Amino acid sequence: MIENQVVIIGAGISGLKAASELYKRGVKSCTILEARDRVGGRLHTVSGYQNRRYDLGASWHHDTLVNGLFLEELNLSDDQRASFVFDDDSLVIFDAEKGRVDQDPGMVLEILLEELLNYSELHFFEDLGVQDLNYFQMVVKYLYERRGLLTDDQMRYLPQVARCMELWHGIDWKSQSSKCLEIAHQGRNALVLNYDKIVHRIASEIPEGWLQISTEVKEVRDDGKNVFVTTSKGETISCEYVIVTVPQSILAHSLQPEPRVGRIEFVPPLNAKIENAFQKTHYGALGKVVFEFDECCWSTQRSHILSLGKSSSNLSKKVRAAQDVTLLMKELDADTKYEFQSGDSWDFPLLFVNMAKLTDVPSFVMLMPNPLTKYIESIRDKDKLLEFFQPVLENLLKTLGCTEPIIKDFEDKLVTPNKKTPVLKNILTTSWTVDDYALGSYSSCEPGDDPMDLVLALSDNQTSRVRFAGEHTIMDGAGCVYGAWQSGKREASFIADKLA
Ligand SMILES: Cc1cc2nc3c(=O)[nH]c(=O)nc-3n(C[C@H](O)[C@H](O)[C@H](O)COP(=O)(O)OP(=O)(O)OC[C@H]3O[C@@H](n4cnc5c(N)ncnc54)[C@H](O)[C@@H]3O)c2cc1C
Repeated sequence: MIENQVVIIGAGISGLKAASELYKRGVKSCTILEARDRVGGRLHTVSGYQNRRYDLGASWHHDTLVNGLFLEELNLSDDQRASFVFDDDSLVIFDAEKGRVDQDPGMVLEILLEELLNYSELHFFEDLGVQDLNYFQMVVKYLYERRGLLTDDQMRYLPQVARCMELWHGIDWKSQSSKCLEIAHQGRNALVLNYDKIVHRIASEIPEGWLQISTEVKEVRDDGKNVFVTTSKGETISCEYVIVTVPQSILAHSLQPEPRVGRIEFVPPLNAKIENAFQKTHYGALGKVVFEFDECCWSTQRSHILSLGKSSSNLSKKVRAAQDVTLLMKELDADTKYEFQSGDSWDFPLLFVNMAKLTDVPSFVMLMPNPLTKYIESIRDKDKLLEFFQPVLENLLKTLGCTEPIIKDFEDKLVTPNKKTPVLKNILTTSWTVDDYALGSYSSCEPGDDPMDLVLALSDNQTSRVRFAGEHTIMDGAGCVYGAWQSGKREASFIADKLA
């Protein structure tokens, strides 16, 4: 039996930050047990064509006015910190039939979106007991009540523009709680280039002997005096404190009896408060696809381009004729069902980040919501991926002024015929939904959920010795890198005080 003061389960940003803080505070013995063969967790920088670098996990520092990690980075010298670029920009918005819809002064879709989000917020503000609706239903309610004030085009395109929120929450509008929709941004967003620099900086602050990768934790046993952590290699470490940082999706399996990869058996089992809180929280699946071209043959004026899901010209007629909003919701719900078998990429909102503008790299990083993420992450074949996205990709390039058809060259055999031809060299995709140690992207809320419950239950901890950190255990920065980082700091500080 190995004896330690502290064991940390997981070497994502929360676990690494906790370890670095414990070391700074004089803790002498700590082990970080990480199941994967790498550190960083949902921060994962990979190399693509010609060694171009992309983040397949988090990409941005959000809320840069209050983001503790960002502020820590600002205090470092240029060579110590990861570079970043503020990339907030108004959206270029296009759809399959009409092309660009953001330039039409008669539509003002982004202003209407703001009003719609405001409308949703006011709806719940009226009374604490107001029943939650899914976001799709909220959009229909808004259209119905404001139909006298909206043009047919506004009615047609606003719902699809409103779906850009799916790319924040990682779930589709019919699964998204309207009550938990609002995101109060605290400052601009900065695209990080790249997150591995931050991960390795924090990891380098930890003594080498503390970290054990490729070591999955199987059991956490608390006998009231000590905690015993057992790994898949059969090793048991006894400690005074343990910090569990595994994602919410993995922790949820500890409440189910079935064994599975990543699952941790808690003895005694997770307490009732934690168990109940899991009834009121869900998990999203934001995904990414990177399209790498040989040369940039499109406009680099704007950094973010939103491709809309398809809309129906009949929608405004139906809204205007409706007598009852609940029936209208049902009718429009049936009209907007989708199937993946059709191979149609026009069913979802997709956000393209124009890397050529931000970093001079001729690629697009595309963000997609669930359930599309699950479907795409199950396809590994690049030709099939291209087949699925080609219609939307051709349209994106056309929108940005490149009219020639895409030439595929995954074998890297062609010499680019001229600077106007888009030659696609490679496609990269995320695999978070099929990754046993992630099972998705981050916490999200379905109708009726209350994210506070899980945060309160986990920050109250299992016992004072079995503690939790991670993006799902904190309200400020919930779901974000900086929230996870802060939660690691919080737990380390508690333990260091106690040990002192
Ligand atoms: C596609 C995507 C895009 C995102 N975009 C952003 C963004 O732009 N900005 C932002 O702020 N946030 C973003 N996020 C969220 C952000 O990445 C996470 O909030 C943050 O990285 C979570 O850190 P963590 O330490 O809580 O968890 P993790 O990074 O998941 O760390 C937990 C660790 O526990 C390990 N583990 C799991 N089970 C076991 C076990 N049984 N034994 C041992 N180890 C185990 C895992 O391997 C992992 O390394 C994004 C996430 C995704 C997936």
